[in-house]
Amino acid sequence: MSFETLGLSTHLVSALKKAGFESPTSVQSASIPKALEGHDLMVSAQTGSGKTAAFMLPALHRIVSNPQRPRGVSVLVLAPTRELAMQVGDAAKTYASQCRDLRVAVVVGGMPYGAQLKALSRRVDVLVATPGRLMDHLQSKRVKLNTVQTLVLDEADRMLDMGFIEDIERIVARTPSERQTLLFSATLDGSVAKLASAMMRDPLSIEV
Ligand code: AMP
Repeated sequence: MSFETLGLSTHLVSALKKAGFESPTSVQSASIPKALEGHDLMVSAQTGSGKTAAFMLPALHRIVSNPQRPRGVSVLVLAPTRELAMQVGDAAKTYASQCRDLRVAVVVGGMPYGAQLKALSRRVDVLVATPGRLMDHLQSKRVKLNTVQTLVLDEADRMLDMGFIEDIERIVARTPSERQTLLFSATLDGSVAKLASAMMRDPLSIEV
């Protein structure tokens, strides 16, 4: 299996080659083709499995294959911690390095507002955020989510454990209902299953 055969754009494949990725991991092989078909996915995946690329590559593919896309946030990734959000933002920048004009912004708690406000005042295609800080920016109308095509909930179980459910619900309510939703979590039962049934359409479950 190669990244080309998964159906990803040549810009993404060449960025992966540059980053030294030779072949997809199992979670990537299982998730990417289904995400490219447009399904909502709930994927059980651990850190270290290559889960970030499993959601980010199809999300970026959707952006690059639509040059007429409206200005505004196309991909929104919610992550539980500042560290994870920054890692996901860095990964997005690496995978998008061969795509022209694709901007990634990260907004996380515990960091000064100034740089985040500046980043949000410019074009943003991919926004990676922790739920609490994103709510602050939504309340002060610094960011709009009405153009989101792909919503990712990364480490959904940890976000629920950290008490972010209300923020997540408020954030998701501001995204279009026809979006694609990709949920990644160490576990897919209990409160994660409940969250998934509330905000996803006929999701496929992937466990690798
Ligand atoms: P993640 O599980 O997303 O945190 O990824 C774990 C690490 O694996 C990161 O350092 C990625 O850059 C790396 N990685 C992800 N996918 C691949 C791949 N297909 N080939 C080589 N390295 C990868």
